[in-house]
Amino acid sequence: MTDCEHIKTSLKKNSEEFLGHKFSFKAETCDICEAVLWDDVVNKKFQIWINSLYKKHADLFVVQPRFTKQTLDSLDQEINSLAFSVNRAVVLRAMSYVYIDDICTLPDVAEHAAGISVRPAYEYFDTGPKRPVKVRVRPHHYLDLLTWSKLTGLSPARIIEKSTMSMLALIKEQTDENESYQAGKIREMMRSILRAA
Ligand SMILES: [Zn+2]
Repeated sequence: MTDCEHIKTSLKKNSEEFLGHKFSFKAETCDICEAVLWDDVVNKKFQIWINSLYKKHADLFVVQPRFTKQTLDSLDQEINSLAFSVNRAVVLRAMSYVYIDDICTLPDVAEHAAGISVRPAYEYFDTGPKRPVKVRVRPHHYLDLLTWSKLTGLSPARIIEKSTMSMLALIKEQTDENESYQAGKIREMMRSILRAA
């Protein structure tokens, strides 16, 4: 069945559960293996549905990462260094974007980033009591987090925690070693994302 090419399909009623709510839709479904084929039409319907869910139940889209005092202090320091004002939740949201989309794929930074979670700079942010911070995530970013969540086995909150601590640790490490080139590069990426946010 795994090799099914879905040659014969029919339009059938389907539903999928998302954050405890049901998304009902019609989609082409394979007559043989019953795979539901999500085309652009279904995708568009889903976008509309999830946006209306967000409007009605924004509380469902709140992620609660936990951080140590030194992480939050360092984060606030980065925020204060920005030329414009932006709140913590927005920065935390941007962290996971920048980290996963840019840092982990940027040739000369990716190598440094790969082992960061076992180095002292990361341990510095990870050690000690932690408290939760509420981050409301927009639907499209929430979907990204869920995709990453499936790929990595980490919860959305954990992804934000790891991205944030990794970014701050990379900046701290580079600054400590007086190699400000990469720290500057990471900060610049964060800023450009925040400007667009
Ligand atoms: Zn099939």
